[in-house]
Amino acid sequence: MNYEFKKTLTDTPKEKPDPKSLGFGKIFTDHMFLMDYDTEKGWHDGRIVPYGPLQMDPAAVVFHYGQEMFEGLKAYKTAEGKVLLFRPDMNAKRTNATNDRMCMPQMDEDLYVACIKALVDVERDWIPDQPGTALYIRPFIIGDEAFLGVRPSNHYLFVIILSPVGSYYESSNGGLVANSIFVEDEYVRSVPGGTGYAKVGGNYAGALKAQEKAHANGCEQVLWLDAIEKKYVEEIGTSNAFFMIDNEIITAPLTGTILPGITRNSVLQLLRNWGYTVKEERLSMEDLFTAAKEGRLQEVFATGTAAVISPIGRLVYKGQSLEIGEGEVGPVSQKLYDTLYGIQTGAVKDEMGWTVTV
Ligand SMILES: *Cc1c(COP(=O)(O)O)cnc(C)c1O
Repeated sequence: MNYEFKKTLTDTPKEKPDPKSLGFGKIFTDHMFLMDYDTEKGWHDGRIVPYGPLQMDPAAVVFHYGQEMFEGLKAYKTAEGKVLLFRPDMNAKRTNATNDRMCMPQMDEDLYVACIKALVDVERDWIPDQPGTALYIRPFIIGDEAFLGVRPSNHYLFVIILSPVGSYYESSNGGLVANSIFVEDEYVRSVPGGTGYAKVGGNYAGALKAQEKAHANGCEQVLWLDAIEKKYVEEIGTSNAFFMIDNEIITAPLTGTILPGITRNSVLQLLRNWGYTVKEERLSMEDLFTAAKEGRLQEVFATGTAAVISPIGRLVYKGQSLEIGEGEVGPVSQKLYDTLYGIQTGAVKDEMGWTVTV
């Protein structure tokens, strides 16, 4: 299917930022993508317009009951100047799974990817090409009907904005750095039957408190436990969590309380292809802590679009601090990062067919 979107280009393009001082999500490109939904016409009027504030009624559903969702993916520039997206069809599928949970309308997956490609194409000069940099893509949908009753909105706005982002790692050579995690045993992120598997803003607003606590305890990230027994490990911050114990790699199963990460899915496929024993099973904090104390916990890493692979070198649990793998980046974490980042940037052959050219 060939989709046509109306383009209104800006007369006042911004100056491109210094690629060395991008940070994350602070700078936005010249244009954004908008598309409306109503019950009669479905998704319609997809258009590219100059980036700027949205005008909305103060009674819009999103402001009161939080009916919204978001996604995150990246566009990379290869050494030859080609523009690649990484598995955008997976973001489209996850959007529809989230929308189903939030009583928001489904969107055709091809249309979804076409909207992203159209905007990235217009903004291709904004994609930085220094090592570790990318163009972060943030699609989101808000219920914007002006109505204070509690029911699903009858009108939605689909928006895509783009942000050139720097390397997630602040080491001088742009290489991986090991982070520390604080095991959160008071606040919870997600409950069975809740919205933990959906990428919805409310999950993140509710998690800020634990993030502050982790920072106050000298850790970069939170390790979330299950909400019922506060016993099993689930996720690390806004990433999925992997643990290597006795040469086996374990990650939490997709039972509705964790976000089904696209990086998680890709890492599982790579590890299995490489012949590792990989288990999608519950892992108790007690077993994890015992393994760490006995020196059997070889590696811990978090996976997500922002950092790709984020190695963990220290764990704080009930006032005790334990080092993991001498606090250094482990060989499996490094190999996964090199492979995935290599595929995403076109430096490693994409044998899985994961990349899509814009
Ligand atoms: C987005 C997200 C992830 C990672 O998903 P990716 O598709 O790999 O970027 C993991 N956990 C949470 C809570 C998230 O929001």
